[in-house]
Amino acid sequence: MIKLTIDEKEIELDKPVTVLEAAGKAGIRIPTLCYFEGLSPFGGCRLCLVKVEKLPRLQTACTLMAADGMVVNTENEQIRAARRSMLEFLLINHPLDCPVCDKAGECQLQDLVAEYGPDAGRFAEGKRTHPESFDDPIIVRNMERCLTCTRCIRMCNDLQGAYAISVTGRGSRSFVEPFSGGRYNCEYCGNCLTVCPVGAIMSRLHRHSYRPWFVEREVETVCGFCGVGCTMVLQMRENSIIRTIPRTGLGLNNGLLCVRGRFGYDFVESKERITVPMIRKDGGLRPASWDEALDFVAGRLREIRDKHGAGSIGAIASGRCSNEDNYMLQKLIRFVIGSNNIDSTARNFYAPAVSYLEALFGQGITANLIPGIANSDGIFVLGGDPTKINPILGLQIRAARRNGGKVITAGPSGGLKRSTDYELSTVSFGEEAVLSGIVGGLLDAKEPPGENKKVEEHLKSLVIPDDEALREAGISPESIRAAVDDLKDMTTPVVVIGPGITARNRPSKLLFLAGAIAYLTNARIFVLSERPNYQGLMDMGCLPDTLPGGRPIRFEMFRHKIEERVGTAVPVDEGLNLYEMVDASMEGRIRALYIMGENPVFNLPDRKKVTKSLESLNLLVVQDIFMTETAVKADVVFPASSWSEKVGTFTNLERRIQGIGKGRDLKGTREDWRILAAIANRMGMKETYNVPEDVWNEVSHVSPLHSGLSYEDVGSSDSIFPYHGEPLRGIEGDFSVDSIGRLPEIKAGEGYRLITERPLFHSGTLSRRSKALLSISSEPSLLINPSDAEELHVSDGSTLTVRTEMGLVSIKARISDEVPEKTVSLSNVFEEGHITELVGYSQDPLSGTVSLKYSVLTIEKSGDE
Ligand code: SF4
Repeated sequence: MIKLTIDEKEIELDKPVTVLEAAGKAGIRIPTLCYFEGLSPFGGCRLCLVKVEKLPRLQTACTLMAADGMVVNTENEQIRAARRSMLEFLLINHPLDCPVCDKAGECQLQDLVAEYGPDAGRFAEGKRTHPESFDDPIIVRNMERCLTCTRCIRMCNDLQGAYAISVTGRGSRSFVEPFSGGRYNCEYCGNCLTVCPVGAIMSRLHRHSYRPWFVEREVETVCGFCGVGCTMVLQMRENSIIRTIPRTGLGLNNGLLCVRGRFGYDFVESKERITVPMIRKDGGLRPASWDEALDFVAGRLREIRDKHGAGSIGAIASGRCSNEDNYMLQKLIRFVIGSNNIDSTARNFYAPAVSYLEALFGQGITANLIPGIANSDGIFVLGGDPTKINPILGLQIRAARRNGGKVITAGPSGGLKRSTDYELSTVSFGEEAVLSGIVGGLLDAKEPPGENKKVEEHLKSLVIPDDEALREAGISPESIRAAVDDLKDMTTPVVVIGPGITARNRPSKLLFLAGAIAYLTNARIFVLSERPNYQGLMDMGCLPDTLPGGRPIRFEMFRHKIEERVGTAVPVDEGLNLYEMVDASMEGRIRALYIMGENPVFNLPDRKKVTKSLESLNLLVVQDIFMTETAVKADVVFPASSWSEKVGTFTNLERRIQGIGKGRDLKGTREDWRILAAIANRMGMKETYNVPEDVWNEVSHVSPLHSGLSYEDVGSSDSIFPYHGEPLRGIEGDFSVDSIGRLPEIKAGEGYRLITERPLFHSGTLSRRSKALLSISSEPSLLINPSDAEELHVSDGSTLTVRTEMGLVSIKARISDEVPEKTVSLSNVFEEGHITELVGYSQDPLSGTVSLKYSVLTIEKSGDE
């Protein structure tokens, strides 16, 4: 125990902290400018000066550690005079432009000058001048206002790990700039905006359009872009989101957001939102009343079910809709109509990967805490760049490296480049060899734990490539051995698996080997999730073979339990998955499809086939927030509320259930669950639901996984259910592994390979309606490795034509070492240059993941280049 006295208050500390933090614990405020919770202390602004008995001069409270017996005074005339002097020095150059500065009203310098003075400056000389910089798309820099407190730099280096900015120049010419000058060209997370105490680094989005006191209300919610589920606050004025901010000390993201969460929210205010139901009449979609559209859909669904059977109806759920929305879609299709044909785009990777790993190790194996990654002594990354797919999770990996952990990537390290100890393969199809080599090395180095006989039995047949084969393929056996040497002694390792594994030929083997690494090192597993609620929709039963609560349909016992709780029969046969529904629609076995918050024409491979299958339907119903490529094909379109326009819950990739808050209304739209319930009621459902809590109460009654969880529980930002973050060991399930007894596939042949780019600045269909995100990245490009670019004589910006047997796209090249050699990548974000135009798909029969398929791929320079 450390005992000290601050302002005559006795304080006891159970661990060493600074005087500033000790005072904070006792509710005593010491003014600061350069201090920011979570950043390392700097002691630069000297506003936190305090008097400590027996020390001759005033001390900076942010850097002085509290000591036993210390007596501290935080306010007296000497201290006030010192603070006034410091502020006077800062004001020598800081412009007095508060009337036109967007920060006025929440500027810490302004507040401190109001508190301590000076009332007037004594320096008559001119202030420094420096032009405002608009080099960056969403950030404006006004370095005349900069106090060089370095909060932004410490944020960028110590928490974001981007190292994009630094102090350049000397004395009064010191500015915060990128090393190279000009544009920041960074990840545009905007976390520097959060910490800037004055108006030196600010958002361009609302320049001169609002003042902090215009914020009328704050709504706590969760980001709607990816499966991390960062908590954030919507600052609202009337019906508009003025900005989104994180809260220090709150949520798993603890004060940080990525570019999508911070700037991408403006899609909800797009003029392209749909606000009126539409029914297809005379060949076109015509506005209709809600009752007319709901009656029409209920009537048509009833007719189709009566004529063709319940199995002729299917549904596609949404990873960006809430648990309540997804539960209600599941209820309509499964319990009201009587069909198990329900699935989502989680089918591509997330759902099968989680199911496969659960079959290996038991339910809950992927339920681990994201903030715990920073404390891991090693992270193994496979199948994509976490700093782009799930950026805040990626930051935890960077933090682990700063804390002394080792980072090993099976493929190109991308945004982890600075943080990677071993980048084990940068060649096409190198991952399988890398994983086989690591598992082989671990088996040589240590005894398997003996907990999971089935996994260990398979491992006996593993064929490991020899050093010569690895070298020939461009993989260093020495690096693999060095990585194994580190991995084998780790005590808190983590394995992170991304969707890129679906681009490989044997995804089940990659999943198995990644699982084996986790098993042999006792690591926690994280599966990256591209949508905020993929896990939630699975838990709500939006899978063709699984009931709410993750209970398999094939077991009669589970069906009966749910039947008792719902009071309706549960269809016995497992339903069709997403791609089986596409085939069944083409063949006339599916007659009606209900799509909620998803755009299969845009998001699924083989666009021609998907389009044709939707056109073959007797009834296509789409409820969405935009008139998407899928919605224009529909017979009925319902305008749905967006993420910020409804209350509900999301379940993130940790399986943390968090509440989403309602910030705004959009006249004419309705919550997805409300639309579905209205149709279900018209089709005979007796229950009525007035608020999302009514839906949740039913979920907690029906789903054994959510049993006993009140709406109050799940709305809290810290709820985790049901696994409490700990892997459940020792439950063996059914799984198979492809080619475990064969040499890994190292070289895929001579040609190029096409994979999906998962960019940082966009995410699915919504982000292309965000003006802010488009201002950073507005056009697609083809990523090509530097060695391939050299071979093809391609420079950055050259136009290339990429051709497969399914079509061609002409597109600008971007040279990047984030793609392996002999590999090019296209995003699925923009309408032009879209990867789904060029590829078909195949579903891995063992893991269930979906891979892109094409037989011929050529890349040529276009025109005269
Ligand atoms: Fe949103 Fe994901 Fe970024 Fe967090 S990491 S702010 S959840 S997009």
